[in-house]
Amino acid sequence: MAVHVLDEANRCLQCKNPRCRTGCPINTNIPEMIRLLKEEQMMEAAVMLFNNNPLSIVCSLVCDHEKQCEGHCVRGIKGAPVHISAIENYISDSCFERIKLTKKPYNGKKVAVIGGGPAGITIAVLLAQRGYKITIFEGREKLGGIMRYGIPAFRLPRTVLDRYAEKLKDLGILFRPNFSIGGSTSIKDLFDDGYKSVFIGTGAWRPRRLHIPGETFGNVAYAINYLRNPDVYDIGDKVCVIGAGNAAMDVARTAIRMGAKEVTVYCKGDVPAASVKEVEYAKLEGVHFEYCKTAVEIKDESIMIAPVTIEEDGSNTVHSEQAEEVPCDFVIISISQVPKDRLVSRDTELKLNDKGTLQTDENGETTMPGVFASGDVVTGAKTVVAAVNVSKQIADDMDKYMQGLLD
Ligand SMILES: Cc1cc2nc3c(=O)[nH]c(=O)nc-3n(C[C@H](O)[C@H](O)[C@H](O)COP(=O)(O)OP(=O)(O)OC[C@H]3O[C@@H](n4cnc5c(N)ncnc54)[C@H](O)[C@@H]3O)c2cc1C
Ligand code: SF4
Repeated sequence: MAVHVLDEANRCLQCKNPRCRTGCPINTNIPEMIRLLKEEQMMEAAVMLFNNNPLSIVCSLVCDHEKQCEGHCVRGIKGAPVHISAIENYISDSCFERIKLTKKPYNGKKVAVIGGGPAGITIAVLLAQRGYKITIFEGREKLGGIMRYGIPAFRLPRTVLDRYAEKLKDLGILFRPNFSIGGSTSIKDLFDDGYKSVFIGTGAWRPRRLHIPGETFGNVAYAINYLRNPDVYDIGDKVCVIGAGNAAMDVARTAIRMGAKEVTVYCKGDVPAASVKEVEYAKLEGVHFEYCKTAVEIKDESIMIAPVTIEEDGSNTVHSEQAEEVPCDFVIISISQVPKDRLVSRDTELKLNDKGTLQTDENGETTMPGVFASGDVVTGAKTVVAAVNVSKQIADDMDKYMQGLLD
């Protein structure tokens, strides 16, 4: 490990009003984690972390720490913040297999979880611990959602997700892979089979389109499709990435690893939306950035790139008439994702809101009674920690619903 965690732990001031905790989207008790580590009570620290955030290991690797916990640490005002993510990773990773999860006896009620991403995993773990029998239905082969099929392995090793699969098995959670709900099987079929409640955590997998000519050509891919299995794409030497969020950084850095000789990210604004750390890594690895520019047309062996003016109110004007032709072998479009509408078109009781995400009430219940949802399918593309955080509350609401206690 590059950072000596004890040296970092010793730098913590054990603040009475810990700003790091305020900056953490899931309110991790960071000073307590550090205190327990220093007092050689690492298992207690690991259990506390898991109970607050079952995906603590993942979050210690993929959260935007410089904006969250570390970005708020008081030590950061005059120097480097405490390296909180390294400490959390060390504790959660080294204790994971030894955490013995408590589980109430089976209460006779079954729950169907659709989608095995962070939202689905969180619901499955929390409700299994309360005595429900859980089956996760997952359209793909393995557990993890975007953590496995989007975030590259050089940022999040797949072994971490395999370890979660084992943990879920220990809790008696059943995993039904390669099976999408909304095709031959509907949500109503699940209720007919006796499930007391259904959770939808199907994420946002429909790529946003640029709506420019040439987007359907064979030399084009969307980020979410490319990252799923980059080795099946013939990207050539010169790759253009349109968009500059975190997913675009993953695309650019993956393309470099897949052998592209020249990778250029076109950022519509003057600052990339991606985290500073991801941009820095991309630059270190040789990715080139062009600011205030975007694509207006894709051709067979080139792309038309136009300048963009950012107006005072934050809106932008694309100057298509000034577009220049840039030779390139492959174009990858990375301008976010929205949910697919497979479930909604099969179970018409489910309603979308005007943003195209699933409509839910304050308890996370959809317009179909007994069906709850959270994660990207409700919020649109967000983060792992956001999906976990809201799913904790939805697990409580589903529990109340199944006990007949939900208002
Ligand atoms: C390239 C990329 C990089 C990212 N990097 C980060 C990062 O560094 N840090 C961070 O915090 N966040 C990151 N995110 C965002 C984060 O991964 C998501 O916000 C999070 O995974 C959402 O969790 P979820 O459970 O709602 O959905 P998902 O992770 O999308 O999981 C949904 C699951 O449901 C399955 N599914 C869909 N439809 C069906 C169906 N009908 N039946 C059965 N199964 C179905 C899918 O196969 C998938 O496994 C990134 C996103 C992308 C695209
Ligand atoms: S803000 Fe920094 S120094 Fe203070 S408790 Fe949190 S990690 Fe420790």
